[in-house]
Amino acid sequence: MSLPESIAADLDATMEWLEPLYKDLHAHPELSMQEERTAALVAERLEGFGYAVTRLGGGVVGVLENGEGPAVLFRADMDGLPVREETGADYASTATAQRDGVEVPVMHACGHDVHTACALGAASLLAAHRKEWSGTAIMLFQPGEEVARGARSMVDAGLAKRIPAPVVALGQHVMAGPPAGEVAISAGPVFSTAVSLRVRLFGKGGHGSMPHLAIDSVVLAAAVVTRLQSLVARELSPDEFGVVTVGSMRAGDTANIIPDSAELLLNLRAYSEETLAALEEGVERIVRAECQAGRCPREPEIQRYDPFPLTVNDERAVETLRSAFSGAFGADGVHAMERVTASEDFSIIPDALGVPYAYWALGGFTPDQDPVGNHNPHFLPALQPTLTGGVVASAAAMLAFLGRS
Ligand code: ZN
Ligand code: ZN
Repeated sequence: MSLPESIAADLDATMEWLEPLYKDLHAHPELSMQEERTAALVAERLEGFGYAVTRLGGGVVGVLENGEGPAVLFRADMDGLPVREETGADYASTATAQRDGVEVPVMHACGHDVHTACALGAASLLAAHRKEWSGTAIMLFQPGEEVARGARSMVDAGLAKRIPAPVVALGQHVMAGPPAGEVAISAGPVFSTAVSLRVRLFGKGGHGSMPHLAIDSVVLAAAVVTRLQSLVARELSPDEFGVVTVGSMRAGDTANIIPDSAELLLNLRAYSEETLAALEEGVERIVRAECQAGRCPREPEIQRYDPFPLTVNDERAVETLRSAFSGAFGADGVHAMERVTASEDFSIIPDALGVPYAYWALGGFTPDQDPVGNHNPHFLPALQPTLTGGVVASAAAMLAFLGRS
């Protein structure tokens, strides 16, 4: 199924306002759960297109009713990251913001500005070409994806009661992978489930010259970090994906003082909730056992934070999208999506609504560009064909599930 001719003919005109809008979003990134300017801009645009707009939980939802037919939800995220932009683009961000009382640089280093712009582009095309479809288009813009809080905050604010029940939820992420402006999609798990752990280990402080009178939390932390490596290497099936990363290790600050405590920050990932739970159980077992081995005077403390759900694409939804994308991009423009070890909070929304979902990758880098990973200070998707591809994918995906009149 290819895009209706009237919509395809409108793409160039759409890019005339969408490119400047994207550059404006890129130049004005906001940190997670602080997306006020972006949300206001999105709400104003959606209202202008004729959508009924609701703001809740820091996000924005636009609903466009267009006669009989299914309701379909498209989700975009709006937040930037505390990264100093080094792309050298003339629309590069110089923005800063407060985070935990500290001023930090802010950058759209994950391409959420692409997602927001492309969703607005698709929203305007659907509104301008109502004769081509029937049903209800729901365009959702969430805050706080990077901290796994935004989807949850919209759900907790009563999302399900504020929108018509959709039959499916859709979304996309720009990244290196498929060629710029093309898409990749696969059924099954495509993004990992994740959780972070803060581990506090308690020893006994003392003089650096008298280790026998102390319980050394540095040696303890080192033993824990080393032993944790065996979880993936020796406990997980070689067939199974899992990651245990110790991203931070802090203890003491003076050469001749044995510190009385140490703190580790861990990040765990897997492609199934069972595997993640097994890794988490393993961390707790190893931490407690090492503390016992080290004669710790106090039980360790383990605190979990930033949990991300698994993203598992629905098989039938993927089938439908694959044929819609083949029509819109040609079969050569649709690729198999490789699993991403990163995580997404997108699925919290369809899970709360009890509907299937599909999430695809949008290529953002041309062959002459050095493709960098998301969150890199040099992350800058090619303006085109990325934006056009992202709008075409969003519109084609919505139309594939809406009624066609
Ligand atoms: Zn990100
Ligand atoms: Zn992202």
